[in-house]
Amino acid sequence: MKILVLPGDGIGPEITEATLAVLDRANSKYKLGLEWQTEEIGVAALKKQGSTLPEAVMEAARGAPGIILGPVDHLQYPSREQGGINPSGEFRVKLDLFANIRPAKSRMCVGLTGKPVDLVIFRECTEGFYADRNMFMGRGEFMPTEDMAIAVRKVTARQCRRISQVAFEWARKRRKKVTAVHKANVFHISDGLFLREVRAVAKEYPDVELDEKIVDAMAALLVRDPSKFDCIVTGNMFGDILSDEASEISGGLGLAGSVMAGDDACCAQAQHGSAPDIQGQDKANPTSLILSAGMLLEWLAARHKRREFSQAARSIEDAIDAALQSADTRTRDLGGTLGTKAFGKHVAERV
Ligand code: NAD
Repeated sequence: MKILVLPGDGIGPEITEATLAVLDRANSKYKLGLEWQTEEIGVAALKKQGSTLPEAVMEAARGAPGIILGPVDHLQYPSREQGGINPSGEFRVKLDLFANIRPAKSRMCVGLTGKPVDLVIFRECTEGFYADRNMFMGRGEFMPTEDMAIAVRKVTARQCRRISQVAFEWARKRRKKVTAVHKANVFHISDGLFLREVRAVAKEYPDVELDEKIVDAMAALLVRDPSKFDCIVTGNMFGDILSDEASEISGGLGLAGSVMAGDDACCAQAQHGSAPDIQGQDKANPTSLILSAGMLLEWLAARHKRREFSQAARSIEDAIDAALQSADTRTRDLGGTLGTKAFGKHVAERV
């Protein structure tokens, strides 16, 4: 099975190298039969090929059973017409990777609020306010006059239903609670539609409790007591913001794994960005991408009925948890001394 590896921008190449060290070890120990096809995207590809997502890479992504995508610095990208394509948004729409699944877990016993965090955010990621993906043609953001800008928000019943189904399926295997986060007090129609679909899906899961929270209150409640939450389902922008908050209170952005998944494909992607402020300094924490790769293995295990993939994923997570128990084997963002490379090597040896 050939996995497409796209290191991306900023700290991307460093954390990808550390992740591959861990995956290589899991691959040989559990005889997974994985191969890597590494391709250039982002600023490096723009310089050489005129596009941050060359068509050949997009074609490889269409045929790949799984993708590992490093963070991309799309804030720096030029317009689409000048070759600036956000690979993340493009994959979500073109490969139908609608479910961005973002766990937040305090792996060092307690989170920053002194309370344990163990929750998963299910973020619909192909529509909402995201201008690069919410139109069939053109962008959902425009400027009728030089002093006025308008952004369009897209919400469809189908995508609300699909993301809710993923959240309820996960909740069944976890603590059987789904919290739907919305702003229906203001967005009566669009978030009203979201709530209508979540409630309809909830009826198919009578064993799972449905809770509803307005997004601004949710931001406070997450800090007040994250242990009250298990599975959180929401739209694109609320999910993007709340997942950074949740991962930060669980211990730090560098700890947060994530996948974007559809029915037929899955892409491992760290929750954080390309962190240009620490690029090339061997300071980045690769945990987020390593855990994301573990989530990809779990997805492949379910999809291809390969138990050894699941065993490998669990072993990677255990190795990360063990490394994080001591400050001596943590990266600097978590008060440790290890660099990106050394941390990857340490985790790989414990898989
Ligand atoms: P960021 O997530 O890159 O960084 C925020 C802060 O967290 C920085 O101080 C950074 O040093 C730190 N940080 C992030 N990841 C870390 C890690 N693994 N280890 C240690 N510290 C880490 O957010 P930003 O600076 O706002 O964005 C930079 C670029 O990334 C922008 O172009 C943005 O659009 C892009 N971005 C990409 C993705 C993605 O590819 N999935 C996600 C978010 C942002």
